[in-house]
Amino acid sequence: MSQQQNNLNPQSEAHLHGPLFQNTLQNFDEAAKIINCDPNVAARLRKPRRSLTVSVPVRMDDYTVKVFTGYRVQYNSTLGPYKGGIRFHQNVDLPEVVGMAALMTFKNSVLGLPLGGAKGGVCVDPTRLSRTEKQNLTRRYTSEISAFVGPNKDIPAPDVGTDPQTMAWFMDTYSHEQGGYAQPGVVTGKPVEIGGSLGRNHATGLGVIYITERAMEVNQMQMAGSRIAVQGFGNVGSFAAKFAHERGARVVAVSDVTGGIFNGDGLNIPEVIEYVKQNKGVKGFPGSQEITNEQLLEVECEALLPCALEGQIDTHNAEKIKAKLIIEGANGPVTNAATKILDKRGIFIAPDVIANGGGVIVSYFEWVQDIMSFFWEEADVDSKLKAIILKAFDHVHKFKLEKNIDMRTAAMAASIARLEKAMLLRGLYPR
Ligand code: GLU
Repeated sequence: MSQQQNNLNPQSEAHLHGPLFQNTLQNFDEAAKIINCDPNVAARLRKPRRSLTVSVPVRMDDYTVKVFTGYRVQYNSTLGPYKGGIRFHQNVDLPEVVGMAALMTFKNSVLGLPLGGAKGGVCVDPTRLSRTEKQNLTRRYTSEISAFVGPNKDIPAPDVGTDPQTMAWFMDTYSHEQGGYAQPGVVTGKPVEIGGSLGRNHATGLGVIYITERAMEVNQMQMAGSRIAVQGFGNVGSFAAKFAHERGARVVAVSDVTGGIFNGDGLNIPEVIEYVKQNKGVKGFPGSQEITNEQLLEVECEALLPCALEGQIDTHNAEKIKAKLIIEGANGPVTNAATKILDKRGIFIAPDVIANGGGVIVSYFEWVQDIMSFFWEEADVDSKLKAIILKAFDHVHKFKLEKNIDMRTAAMAASIARLEKAMLLRGLYPR
């Protein structure tokens, strides 16, 4: 039965669909076919379980009240409590959050974590808020979704525009609403002083580099001396650039919202990080040539690491990419159609659900440590992260070679296979 015949009321869910979710569903349908996924399971996995939209009134510094819109989408909880980040960004809307929540579901499954998938966000430009306004926004958003989250229900984490401080406010607000008892396990990515995990802050960037090294290895390349370009210099991109630099790679280009910088001999990344602290962006870094974000993607290099937002590489620029490897630090940076073009051109893509999985893997560790109230050494965290992320990569890569398909389809297929088994075991309620 085609999806259209299967869908008795297609209009009713139009408001959930945006480009990211459509891409994910295309990828899903292709992968489901390859593994012969049970059609009843596939039909359930194509839809979010529930989507919450909330109004978030915030007292601004000038004493006016502004009302923002927030979301929390709980996509699937077959494998465990819902898990996924919270994004503060001016482009956040319900379809984007649905797409991200779907990706989280497939990410947690392919990584082998005992977690379901969710995502949240508020439509706001956080760079235009004062610290007090951001705190007010975070606390009220937390309060609005607090009935739906909890250490055994749904555990948020940072994403674009949120950070450990935001998670601390989230944890504090939720704890107050639970009678004032500290509830560290409700959120991950917290500062270590209040139940965060060592190694969580750099986890996504470190995972990206573990995957870059492995992708290089299976493609007969090596990190030392290779040229790397990184789009996005936030939590993911800046740590990925730092770890690549430490391993002897030449990071030739990086970029952020202020633009891009290039140096063919390699940028001094620790100095770029210091420069960004002082200047709020990479633009103008001494000894570099100015490039645009668009040009950064087309730089001559061994590995391109898109670590910013979704939809950066699509059919308009896929032919112009010169990298040999693309490691997706962001969620959804390469569209499905672009994946096909790049795959034909022999460009190897390590897909988001594996490549940026370091964040949620160490979130999982943080949640476990909070529940046990027993905390691990940083070296322990890093090595356990490495074991889990490389195991997922190797499993998917083997499947890719067996079936002669691209890595994105292989990762989705492995993810669906695990979810399918679990869903068939749990069955349908009532039946
Ligand atoms: N926001 C991150 C992601 O997209 C981390 C999610 C988490 O740690 O729960 O994977």
